Amino acid sequence: MVKFSTGFALLTVVSGVAASSSSTKQPFNAIAEDLSYLFDTQVPGPDSARSVVQRHRAFQQRNKQARTRNDHLAKRQSVNPLPHSGTIPAAGGTSKNGKPYPPAGAIAPKRSTLPTAWVTRYQAKKEAGLIPDIPQSKLDEKTGTLKYPSSVDVSKVCSWTLTNCNDGDIWLSPQGKTAITFDDGPTQYSADLINFLTQEKQATTHFLIGSSILNQPDGMHALASHDLAQLGVHTFSHTLQTTKSDLQIVGDLGWTMQLIYEWTGKVPMYWRAPEGDLDARVRAIAKQVFGLQSVMWNRDADDWCLKDGGGSENSIHKCRTVTYDDVVAEYKAWAHNSSLEGTNTLMHETKDQTIKAFKEYYGFLKASKYKMGAVASIIGAPWYQNQMGPTDPVEEANSIIPQREAMNYTDGGLHTVGSAGGAALGDFSQLKTTTISPSSGSGSSAAGLNSGAAADGTSSNGSSGSASTSAAGRANGWMTVQVYALAGLSVGTASAALIFGL
Ligand SMILES: [Zn+2]
Repeated sequence: MVKFSTGFALLTVVSGVAASSSSTKQPFNAIAEDLSYLFDTQVPGPDSARSVVQRHRAFQQRNKQARTRNDHLAKRQSVNPLPHSGTIPAAGGTSKNGKPYPPAGAIAPKRSTLPTAWVTRYQAKKEAGLIPDIPQSKLDEKTGTLKYPSSVDVSKVCSWTLTNCNDGDIWLSPQGKTAITFDDGPTQYSADLINFLTQEKQATTHFLIGSSILNQPDGMHALASHDLAQLGVHTFSHTLQTTKSDLQIVGDLGWTMQLIYEWTGKVPMYWRAPEGDLDARVRAIAKQVFGLQSVMWNRDADDWCLKDGGGSENSIHKCRTVTYDDVVAEYKAWAHNSSLEGTNTLMHETKDQTIKAFKEYYGFLKASKYKMGAVASIIGAPWYQNQMGPTDPVEEANSIIPQREAMNYTDGGLHTVGSAGGAALGDFSQLKTTTISPSSGSGSSAAGLNSGAAADGTSSNGSSGSASTSAAGRANGWMTVQVYALAGLSVGTASAALIFGL
């Protein structure tokens, strides 16, 4: 069941709606009426291996439900704020960017919700030729496939869904390292997960859904409160992005970034496309307009098949043979991989069983030789856009508009620093690049890595980077990356431990 890429599974597997309910009273619910039903886990379901058609129908249903919830959530604006530094975006309220939050639901935010600054930046990038003219794909409801207009040469649009093209995506990790990632949060289970990760002092990456940030404030509070939880973008509507117009994509990405930024002060730097549905146009919009680096995966155990309380989604064709034990067995196989192949693991914080299974996986990992961490930790890059280097503090940002060039993560894993820019964030011409060759055993300077009891790695700054590589490196299961390193400043374990508490 190990898949090196699940882009094709998207097209072939039938599944259904993953929904569960909870009667848990939310502790900070300050208004008299019982709003617990508002926090039902209407999660959009797993990324991989779901029928596009069924997902589409599920989205329509969820959207209807979300609108109802949204009406009620709008009443919650007087709820006492939670004790953290950010402000809490309330559904029905107004953003710091001056626009009302889009209604939570499974539709891309409308053009009228977009701040002028986002549209202006998009237009400038488009006019500069940095966003390719690729038509939108369309969902064929009968076959459950995505199709481009016949005039399009599909081999040239770099579609992960249709051709498994992953140019510029982070989907692998260096040998011996595991990026632990969770999709589809926040949910009612995020707090339990975060409690566990806090105890373990473990860094992880969480790709969040904008709608769910509005609908699941308790889960978001837990995520926002844990500094080792790297927060990334999973779109506002959790819909197939290649089917969207340019400005719909701008809204889906921008609003999720905006919500994370307003909660935490952090400007996300990474995103994962729902279903992994990416092409060159979508990648370019994310990167050029918002500075977002796309992240995929190379391990998926179908944890989303598990149901709350036990069992699996028997109504979903693919899930009929997937049990909790199957998922755990697969996790065990990942952790026991004798060649320590680098992995980027896709999991979901959507069910009590997925959290339980992850905890077992984590036990296997701790007993293995793998080093594990958040996506940014694994590649030694900053966690957020308003962070100079991987171990530097997050600086104040006035908006989510990028203040520097996006990272350039080219095919095969070459990772370079963009050109200088953004005075508020420092002069990037002072940055040196450092080469890490994981297969040769050199340490990583990345913050947030954890190998159980010990922090990982030694400082490796100083050598000038001539990261070669790529296709050959990937074929061998490792990649060479260049990491951010301030000139003359070690970014090794000591500072990592200081900043990230490892
Ligand atoms: Zn997802």
